[in-house]
Amino acid sequence: MKKAIYPGSFDPPTLGHLDIIRRSAKMVDELVVGVLHNSAKNSLFSTDERVSMIKEVTKEFPNVTVTSFDGLLVNYMKEIDATLIIRGLRAVTDFEYELQIAQTNRVEYPEVETIFLTTSLEYSYLSSTIVKEFASYGGDISKFVPPEFIDRIYAKYQIERNGL
Ligand code: ADP
Repeated sequence: MKKAIYPGSFDPPTLGHLDIIRRSAKMVDELVVGVLHNSAKNSLFSTDERVSMIKEVTKEFPNVTVTSFDGLLVNYMKEIDATLIIRGLRAVTDFEYELQIAQTNRVEYPEVETIFLTTSLEYSYLSSTIVKEFASYGGDISKFVPPEFIDRIYAKYQIERNGL
């Protein structure tokens, strides 16, 4: 039984995240999307909001569940009995950090394997930071996030959607 976790901030979840969820769910028996609850980090959406947003757009995937966690990822994985970590790689700039984290996780939890999925070409530029930047200036984010999130993201910036 292959149980994997796809951890991240997902602030907000993007089409790039959803693509990784869709692809990795096919590779494992059970996929847990783990929203990192980091009280020190200033996030646009609360942990609960991020969990429910991901739940909304993954409800058609029978083997995907969404939870939040805090503290060390490997400790949470031991708790839920997961041994695989899914991460997405966009550019070389992601690589060094991801490699370091993956190796550290193996020291802490030797049974752990990290699976890196390369981003789909159309989302290679996409990050939650870019979405927030665009939205804060009233830019069109319809190609970046699921349609049901658009108004909620603009609302965080007190921006009305003017026929976008
Ligand atoms: P973190 O703060 O852990 O990097 P993110 O929410 O930014 O959290 O990203 C979670 C994971 O999703 C990371 O592995 C990241 O590389 C991956 N990811 C983010 N955006 C994309 C994208 N457009 N295509 C593929 N993977 C992505």
